Amino acid sequence: MSTQPFLPFTRPSIDEDTIAGVAAVLRSGWITTGPQVQAFEAALTAHCGGRSVRTFNSGTATMEIALRLAGIGPGDEVITTPLSWVATANVVIEVGATPVFVDVDAATRNIDLNLIERAITPRTRALIPVDLAGLPVDRDRLYAIAGKHRLRVIEDAAQAFGASWRGRAIGSFGDFVSFSFHANKNITTTEGGALVLPPDIDVALCERYRLQGVMRSGYDGMDVDVLGGKFNLTDVAARIGIGQLHHLEEFTEKRRNLTRHYFNCFDLDLGCELPVLDLENSNCHMFQIVLPRDIVRADYMAHMKQRQIGIGVHYPAMHLFTLYRKRGFGPGMFPQTERIGASIATLPLFPAMTLGDVERVCEATADTIRTMRTGQP
Ligand SMILES: *Cc1c(COP(=O)(O)O)cnc(C)c1O
Repeated sequence: MSTQPFLPFTRPSIDEDTIAGVAAVLRSGWITTGPQVQAFEAALTAHCGGRSVRTFNSGTATMEIALRLAGIGPGDEVITTPLSWVATANVVIEVGATPVFVDVDAATRNIDLNLIERAITPRTRALIPVDLAGLPVDRDRLYAIAGKHRLRVIEDAAQAFGASWRGRAIGSFGDFVSFSFHANKNITTTEGGALVLPPDIDVALCERYRLQGVMRSGYDGMDVDVLGGKFNLTDVAARIGIGQLHHLEEFTEKRRNLTRHYFNCFDLDLGCELPVLDLENSNCHMFQIVLPRDIVRADYMAHMKQRQIGIGVHYPAMHLFTLYRKRGFGPGMFPQTERIGASIATLPLFPAMTLGDVERVCEATADTIRTMRTGQP
């Protein structure tokens, strides 16, 4: 048995100043939405080139509110990828619209831009691209397609905070841009999210959708004109986000260095598919391999667990979930997604990891795959 400490596939890095800051918020008497949320939103606005940014209690809520703000509902179709966290398509169903999947590109594992136009119908209203593992979808081609067909775009950039496209930060341009600050994302608020709003959208309406539709005036005035939900971020969470933002560049740099090391150390003879290497644009949110056909993922994961290494799965093909099969989706519809979804494995990658940890993962993967093939250690 290995005596080495367990290496998870990810782990957040929270500094002592942030922990002290959270304690101060808890002692302050104001723990839910207040000054910390305001300060966090101001910092996010600065990161996004001055655009309007509002925070939410999850990256799922941001997406749902973006769809509502875009006026998307029953009768409308929204095109997205079936290789994502299921929230991406669930929110489309949540607002009463219809998700339409388009298969992914085998290399980028993001929505195949060559296939989008043939999925557009007179009912199509929006595109939801996902930057899987922080690798940005080609924004030039994406917005060319959206512009030509007059479609709204809700960028599911949940995994892409800190990524960029041709030198511009993701979130600093485009239509709606949605981020998640879930514990596993590149910066976290434990749970949380942020929505970047395009200029034609009313920020005050976004705020009403966020909290019960409530509009306040004067000392005691209150009215409700739209149905809002309960989606506001707490000050406790926002204080963590403020502390995390200070480390954004350092975290991204560390993730890029570790990714580069994976490429240097990974044994290509194993027959695994590596991700696209793009240290310019990607924030290196995850390092994911696609296992060779003869390797059963669950067995590989069990072997790695025995060696004290955690492997994640992001994600199984979404259209094969029961909820989606009931809506008419099934096997064979999106071959790349089905192949990748069945064999993709997320290897450990987080800022506090060392280059030695990367070597340990690469060696364990090579040993494991060779053992699985020969039946002998
Ligand atoms: C994490 C994630 C979400 C949802 O974010 P939550 O904050 O967990 O609600 C949506 N889409 C993608 C691609 C994600 O990775």
